[in-house]
Amino acid sequence: MTDAPAHPRLLGPNEVRDLAERLGVSPTKKLGQNFVIDPNTVRKIVRLAGVDAGDRVIEIGPGLGSLTLGITEVGADVTAVEIDRRLAAELLQTARAMQPEVFADPAAPRLRVIHTDALDLSAEMLTAAPEPPEVLVANLPYNVSVPILMHLLELIPGLRGGLVMVQAEVGHRIAAGPGSKEYGAPSAKAAWYGEWRIAGTVSRRIFWPVPGVDSVLVGYERRAQPRGDEQERALVFELVNAAFAQRRKMLRQALQPVLGAFDEAVATIEAAGLAPTARAEQLGIDDFLAIARAHLTRSGVR
Ligand code: SAM
Repeated sequence: MTDAPAHPRLLGPNEVRDLAERLGVSPTKKLGQNFVIDPNTVRKIVRLAGVDAGDRVIEIGPGLGSLTLGITEVGADVTAVEIDRRLAAELLQTARAMQPEVFADPAAPRLRVIHTDALDLSAEMLTAAPEPPEVLVANLPYNVSVPILMHLLELIPGLRGGLVMVQAEVGHRIAAGPGSKEYGAPSAKAAWYGEWRIAGTVSRRIFWPVPGVDSVLVGYERRAQPRGDEQERALVFELVNAAFAQRRKMLRQALQPVLGAFDEAVATIEAAGLAPTARAEQLGIDDFLAIARAHLTRSGVR
């Protein structure tokens, strides 16, 4: 039997409320501030994310530190990106107070806090750490979860995987495959980078304040080999945006803004081995890539 630590190492309901009160933080809907108050859920997220000692984790929106402490508890290093100045300023002190043994060595910082909007996060901001992050773990703010996810996947190609908590509807959209009603631009773009799966559900009661929507955990595993290069990715995303902007239309019409007028669009889609009468929801990410490659060839770029 192991001895329980003399003081809690993770934030429970009392710690979250005390901290928020001391900092004068009343959670705002605008910033999607629903804080996790359940240490069991935090440990489950860290376990499902496959985070181990020595891993370099990036966390978006650490808030009061509920998830951050679960990550440092297992011996991983964290780069935390928080938009709220008060929360960003307090995080390191909370971590030191809750887990003094983890933060005892000043030569091993273990936790870096970057105070910025995650959508503005740049490669330069990440250079404070000796090496780039390799795993993403986050309870993402609901209203901007997809743009943040896309920005991170593009910015940090070395991310080998991760686990994010998002609004259930958004999670199902990210993990959806062609042919399902949830399948859309976010699913196709997410699939460019790797495999996504619904890894679990969480009760609304683990948050303070309790949100008005359900949440799910979505797991991510990067592909062993990139599907294509940066030029192809950019064109594929343009095609995906155009196709799903008019998802009820046939590709030969919906893709004209990218591929050119009717005849050219038809010829390119056929050159990719696809039916010009197909619709966006029938195409997997490799189909979009085939169209992009046919377009690059036919327009003489490659
Ligand atoms: N990780 C904490 C937890 O699980 O208790 C807080 C999660 S809360 C759902 C979302 C957090 O993201 C908040 O701390 C909020 O201030 C922060 N946030 C919201 N928009 C952001 C953005 N654009 N960039 C960075 N952080 C953001």
